[in-house]
Amino acid sequence: MAVATVRPGAARPPQPSLARGLVILGSTGSIGVNTLKVVALHPGRFRVVALTGNTQVERLYEQCQQFQPELAAMMDERAAEELERKLRAAGSGVRVVAGIPGLCEAALLPSAQIVMAAIVGAAGLAPTLGAVRAGRRVLLANKESLVMLGTLMMDEAAKFSAEILPIDSEHNAVFQCLPTGTRLLESCGVRRILLTCSGGPFRTWTLPQIEGATPDEACAHPNWRMGRKISVDSATLMNKGLEVIEACHLFRATADMVDVVIHPQSVVHSLVEYRDGSMLAQLGNPDMRTPIAHALGWPERIDSGVAGLDLAAIGRFDFEQPDSDRFPCLALAYGACRRGGTAPAVLNAANEIAVEAFLAGQIGFTTIARVIESVLSSVPVEDSISVETVLQYDAMARTEARELVAHKGKRVS
Ligand code: NAD
Ligand code: MG
Repeated sequence: MAVATVRPGAARPPQPSLARGLVILGSTGSIGVNTLKVVALHPGRFRVVALTGNTQVERLYEQCQQFQPELAAMMDERAAEELERKLRAAGSGVRVVAGIPGLCEAALLPSAQIVMAAIVGAAGLAPTLGAVRAGRRVLLANKESLVMLGTLMMDEAAKFSAEILPIDSEHNAVFQCLPTGTRLLESCGVRRILLTCSGGPFRTWTLPQIEGATPDEACAHPNWRMGRKISVDSATLMNKGLEVIEACHLFRATADMVDVVIHPQSVVHSLVEYRDGSMLAQLGNPDMRTPIAHALGWPERIDSGVAGLDLAAIGRFDFEQPDSDRFPCLALAYGACRRGGTAPAVLNAANEIAVEAFLAGQIGFTTIARVIESVLSSVPVEDSISVETVLQYDAMARTEARELVAHKGKRVS
């Protein structure tokens, strides 16, 4: 297929006037790829203006060929150089940039109205905050930016009139179950938010079995196909813990207003309980294209490519309480959420290091929680939040967690 050559400064080919400019931060990941699948169903509605990746040159190259953005950013400098060489060789004029400044340039592209924030981890912080400050519609998948910087992120969104629409399936479900324009939960008669949780691949495993779990077993999520880091988080239930913190910020709720219930079928994506005893739920097949399409089109409903549910085939829905003995990460996250300040950032950073070490075979599965608990008790908490403070505490937590990991969890087991 011939590639349109769009040189910086040169006139762009005519675009459909109603097409909304879309930046996808983390386009090579699971959420990014699903976003492009939804976008491909709607030619003329969205115009992809920037795509970003970390090191996956081949995938970003193919995406550039298919969607012809103005800009492609790679975190890794050498990957960026290789991408640029390949694009030039193919006659493409897509501009390539690198590093955090490159990601931020993509996030702030003036031709974008919508930014999908789907970088995994703390690396997504600066570009996501940039998009918020630029007043964009931000489709927020990067939960870490809310966990680390939630208060600031929501305050800045209000200040710069940015719209934050949740992509995480649970929060997207809650958003769908709340009246449009909800600002204060209490004034809408909301009693509590109930986040559902599949329970992960080890829901029925005994503690000794969980202790011997391998990275591949932890990544074999029963219902969702996701990146490896978030898959491990689902297995430890830390993902749900991060989601409790995320929900508190997004919906301005206290931790006491957010509960978690295990629902192994992953069909009820979350619920809102109202003062009169009503519970509203959002249901659907476990496929991220549904929340992505919901947020891309909002307030309109657009096709996602996902079929409706066959309720008779599903037959039954089960619900159970989470087990805090086998899955201590959930309680650690509630603790950090209630403590506030930099505590959630420390929790998140310690978790990232511990999960990385587990995936690399350096520590066992149950050591993940021990590392986090130990880091939380040794790193102090600062109450006032700024990007600088949060990054400073993030770095302290990482150093501490790395040290624990280097001792193969001996000091924490
Ligand atoms: P993934 O690992 O599949 O993709 C991550 C993306 O981020 C890739 O494009 C990768 O290139 C990029 N990236 C990774 N490290 C980077 C770095 N240091 N600098 C710049 N870019 C980097 O992850 P995912 O499953 O798509 O998840 C993305 C985000 O969405 C995460 O925050 C995750 O918690 C959240 N989320 C994902 C799902 C899901 O179903 N996949 C559901 C809810 C929320
Ligand atoms: Mg989720």
